[in-house]
Amino acid sequence: MRIGVLGGGQLGRMLALAGYPLGLSFRFLDPSEEAPAGQVAELCVGEYEEEVLLRFAEGLEGVTYEFENIPLKALETLAHRLPVYPPPQALEVAQDRLAEKTFFQRLGIPTPRFYPVSSKEELWAGLEHTGCPALLKTRRLGYDGKGQYLIRTPADLEEAWARLGGVPSILEAWVPFTRELSLLGVRSQKGEVAFYPLVENHHQGGILRKSRAPAPRSEHLQAQAQALGLAVMEALDYVGLLAIELFEVEGVLWANEMAPRVHNSGHWTIEGAETSQFENHLRAVLGWPLGSTTPRGHAVMLNLIGQAIEPARVLEVPGVHLHWYGKAVRPGRKVGHITLRCDSEARLEALLERLEARLKTP
Ligand code: AMP
Repeated sequence: MRIGVLGGGQLGRMLALAGYPLGLSFRFLDPSEEAPAGQVAELCVGEYEEEVLLRFAEGLEGVTYEFENIPLKALETLAHRLPVYPPPQALEVAQDRLAEKTFFQRLGIPTPRFYPVSSKEELWAGLEHTGCPALLKTRRLGYDGKGQYLIRTPADLEEAWARLGGVPSILEAWVPFTRELSLLGVRSQKGEVAFYPLVENHHQGGILRKSRAPAPRSEHLQAQAQALGLAVMEALDYVGLLAIELFEVEGVLWANEMAPRVHNSGHWTIEGAETSQFENHLRAVLGWPLGSTTPRGHAVMLNLIGQAIEPARVLEVPGVHLHWYGKAVRPGRKVGHITLRCDSEARLEALLERLEARLKTP
């Protein structure tokens, strides 16, 4: 059974690696011949255009995607011919921050106050509502903190507008959150639903650095998170793995954004849960029973960002699992991750200290 995947990055590569034991095979489509999935599966190099898509789709059981910045039209073209999951309408909402926040609002899910902005005048008007600080974000094509500008005082407004290139944007009020969490949920073609325990995320410069799972002191938030996750999934008739990025604000969860795909804050599930997010995504899109999302002890995931490492040095720390994506190392680029897993939370802390020291010193 061959699955087509749009996008051939590390997420796709890990999808393929999770699918092989299930007897699946894969074909990826990516504009770059260096796409990391190409090292482990068939890779078609090409743009997301009709002619390429039709050739790509030949003989496939179904199609999924691991990258959000693909044209919606590409998904729709494929969806006329074969099953495409997650459904195109989920991608449509997630691609546009305005549609996404409006969608959360419509479902009664708390979200930062926001104002659509398509001119400097609207930005001035929006700033009167949000006050400072506020975040100006492009509606489309933002990721890892790109396409955002922090407006600390009204004097930053001109610079913010110029930096983002005057494209349609939204202005968001600054949320004084206690911490950032994410919810990973999965819904199958048959409507079966499962959730992983909440994950605590730490970002630097807009890029995810570290995830802890299960998130410490989060049991009391799990039901709240799952209720909003379920509302999102049902509204979209969702199929596949869904990640929702959340802010915790005085015990209340606010939705910041969602990703209709496997997610970086779910990498810990490979070793840290009974069934990984990658395997469960595949089970969901194929209409197979979902696997258990129960955690195996405690896990911390560290992203390797623009950093080469010496595998033997980090693997000396007990509980370490290394995932190297086969990419050239460049500043700011996610080139791999490490998951540290342990049955005891206290021991995990001690091992994490050892691991972080090894990652700092050459
Ligand atoms: P995003 O691209 O929306 O995920 O934003 C990247 C990061 O910026 C988030 O993970 C937060 O750390 C921060 N951030 C985004 N929006 C807000 C907000 N409205 N208030 C405070 N921090 C934010």
